[in-house]
Amino acid sequence: VLRVEGVVKRFGEHPVLRGIDLEVEAHEVVVLIGASGSGKSTLLKTINLLEQIDDGRIFLGDEDITDPRVNADRVRARIGVVFQHYNLFPHMNVLDNVTLAARQVFGIPRPEAERVGLGLLERIGLVEKAKEFPDRLSGGQQQRVAIARALATDPELLLLDEITSALDPQLVGEVLDLVRELKAGGSTIVMATHEMSFARRVADRVVYLKDGRIIESGPPEQIFESPQREETREFLARLR
Ligand code: ATP
Ligand code: MG
Repeated sequence: VLRVEGVVKRFGEHPVLRGIDLEVEAHEVVVLIGASGSGKSTLLKTINLLEQIDDGRIFLGDEDITDPRVNADRVRARIGVVFQHYNLFPHMNVLDNVTLAARQVFGIPRPEAERVGLGLLERIGLVEKAKEFPDRLSGGQQQRVAIARALATDPELLLLDEITSALDPQLVGEVLDLVRELKAGGSTIVMATHEMSFARRVADRVVYLKDGRIIESGPPEQIFESPQREETREFLARLR
């Protein structure tokens, strides 16, 4: 589904991604871990074409999406994205938030978009909130709506960046449960998180980033129980 090849990104003189190679298969859940500033968000943004890369290439399916001739909006329409802070439009009700992209980017007529939208809200257990405005929902509910919205265009790939880090601890579980359901439903996901317990439970593969480089990548049992690299071991030891 996704292939990142030799991606380099600098902000001014400062290299933030120093040659990232990463392949993600269909239905795979890849979790990025690493210290603050290691480049996790920047990597996700380059995949979504929110940041231009300085070297390397990124393929979504068979298409080189970093080719300058590519239409970025068309690429973004194939990728669902949820960030740390709720991304809902405050002046629109929940259902309109969920259906906006389907209607505006794909031109799907409102009745059809709403049928799909209500189905998604049903799936996340919030169908009774369809006509509420976001500020009437808890943070966890808002974040679940943001995920439903990302799913509304049936994306090939979901990018989730620290989607629980702005939430009160008691709300984290409901969002994480939803991600596990998505995984069970076959979604392809790349997510960045500081929640190691979650990374362990949901990841097919964990990727440890340090200073813009992938230090180690492997199944969660390897990374968390028998890391092959000293740097991975040190990083995890500091979290305990
Ligand atoms: P965190 O765990 O805190 O979210 P991260 O791994 O997501 O960290 P990034 O947000 O990717 O880290 O940032 C990587 C580095 O790039 C940091 O040093 C950051 O200061 C720098 N950086 C990110 N965005 C920009 C920008 N727009 N301009 C300049 N520097 C930036
Ligand atoms: Mg980040």
